[in-house]
Amino acid sequence: MCGIIGIVTKRREGQTAEIAVECLDRLSYRGYDSVGVATLGDNLEVVKMKGKVEDFSHKFDVNSIRGKVILGHTRWATHGPPTDYNAHPHTDCSNSIAVVHNGTIENFRELKAELEMLGHKFKSQTDTEIIPHLIEEFKRRGMDSFSAFKATVNAIEGTYAILAVIRGDNRIYFAKKYNPLVIGIGEDTNYISSDIPSFLPYTKTIVVISDDEVGYLTADSPLNGGVYIEHKGEKIEVNDRIKIINWDAESASKEGYRHFMEKEIMESPRSVKETISGLLADIDEVMKAVKILKDSRRILIVGAGTSYHAGLLFSILLQREGINAIPVIASEYYNYRTSTDDSILAISQSGETLDVRLAIGKFKAEGSKIISLTNVIYSEISRQSDVSLYTSAGPEIGVAATKTFTSQVASLLLLWSAIKDEDFSYLRNAHIVVEDSLSLSGKASAFGEELAKQSNAYFLGRGLSLPLAMEAALKVKEIAYIHSEAYPAGESKHGPIALVTQGFPVIFINGEEDLGLQDNVQEMKARGSKTYSISINKSLNTDREILIKVNDKRLFPLAIAPLIQILAYRSAVIKGTDPDKPRNLAKTVTVR
Ligand code: GLU
Repeated sequence: MCGIIGIVTKRREGQTAEIAVECLDRLSYRGYDSVGVATLGDNLEVVKMKGKVEDFSHKFDVNSIRGKVILGHTRWATHGPPTDYNAHPHTDCSNSIAVVHNGTIENFRELKAELEMLGHKFKSQTDTEIIPHLIEEFKRRGMDSFSAFKATVNAIEGTYAILAVIRGDNRIYFAKKYNPLVIGIGEDTNYISSDIPSFLPYTKTIVVISDDEVGYLTADSPLNGGVYIEHKGEKIEVNDRIKIINWDAESASKEGYRHFMEKEIMESPRSVKETISGLLADIDEVMKAVKILKDSRRILIVGAGTSYHAGLLFSILLQREGINAIPVIASEYYNYRTSTDDSILAISQSGETLDVRLAIGKFKAEGSKIISLTNVIYSEISRQSDVSLYTSAGPEIGVAATKTFTSQVASLLLLWSAIKDEDFSYLRNAHIVVEDSLSLSGKASAFGEELAKQSNAYFLGRGLSLPLAMEAALKVKEIAYIHSEAYPAGESKHGPIALVTQGFPVIFINGEEDLGLQDNVQEMKARGSKTYSISINKSLNTDREILIKVNDKRLFPLAIAPLIQILAYRSAVIKGTDPDKPRNLAKTVTVR
């Protein structure tokens, strides 16, 4: 799940490395165990190390790294531990070719053995290092650089976004299968990266690369041949692909907040507002999705992590209407067989999540219609869908999903009302519910501060509050490293309650008043638990409580979502972890 960047410029050489490192910083939500750059000038120079981008800027004088063609990488290791040697870029034997890669090469062992037989010497344990050696090998056999690059891409199996520079020309060669790659067109500088926010301060003009495409980038404009793309040997007309995006560059910076996560939680009212108006402006697409969903025998709602929780909430809403809705954890897709009578709702913030892509690939082949809800226009998942819906949350940099979750929930409430033929004008006020709830963030922070002292916690809920309890437990686990589990509150007495001793924290999420949570609170109190609750409209009589008033009860999940995020955020800050870059995690999960 690494982040990769390539920059090729006509400008004064000195600035390029600085810009590349800055772009890498914005990409580091994708992986941050090692970092490196390669510059191509008269020579090929590689500087890399184990550590984060900020460590890199401290260790090296980035300004002194020169070259008009530059590659950068921030890693989330899949093959070989994070070490200086395993950091990308990787080079060939003669130090003439450098490669950065996001993904995994499945046949790297066989290829490595063959290359070693031919005399190639390897310096790392990564799968990636076979790529520069293969290019070198094909060049040795007389191929020109582009042909050698294409021959390499044909030889490898797996998932990849690859960038390569080869001494002898000022090009960045690229190839993509499954992992994201997007070109940014600047004035005298072009960019190619894993995502748009990385180069957003420099350009909003983009060209999205699709699977199985290869090509190269120079510093010229596309009109002058600066972008060359081909698919299975056929040249692609690049000008038809150029799009202008409407994200603003400020959204990719912290703007005075300590962490992206905090800033992004605070942006939730705006994200929800823009999401609802975006969907209302695109109501024809929404109604197309609604028709497909209504005409289906079953609806499978597919997501991973936070998006799964949003999908679970939606499935409960639909089940309560008598609709056959099945929440599916994306990576478990092989347990389901669908047909032409079924439809799929795929939810993914990035629109790139590999597990979701594999799931919809199977279900599509079985004849099901695919509807997607993503936050990234032209993303891989939206391009594979029959109907693509979008949240308009803007870029989210913090690894833990916050404003995008709240925006997903708002979108799903709109879909739910549309399916029921209900007037959905009430959703125009959805952002006010989020805003009002954020006025209680001090109380949620106080919960978070107490939780930071604990090493275990339960989050309990019933009905629609259960997915929110699950999301709260996930957030606390992933950024504050506190072992937290969510259960249906009624299930807690069938096992989990055995762990409850004096002072054990149990946090109740209480969105729907009359589902019986009161009894569970008493059961926990009777065993000495320290009880907390986040409740809508009616007190639960826990030891500590946040009571939120919501007039339109349909909107209650939007009131709870930001507070559970604040709670988790505050525990992380108190514990001193970095909530934007939690250990072992990356935001866009493009590996299995
Ligand atoms: N497989 C490569 C490595 O381990 C790239 C990892 C990734 O994209 O996450 O270095």
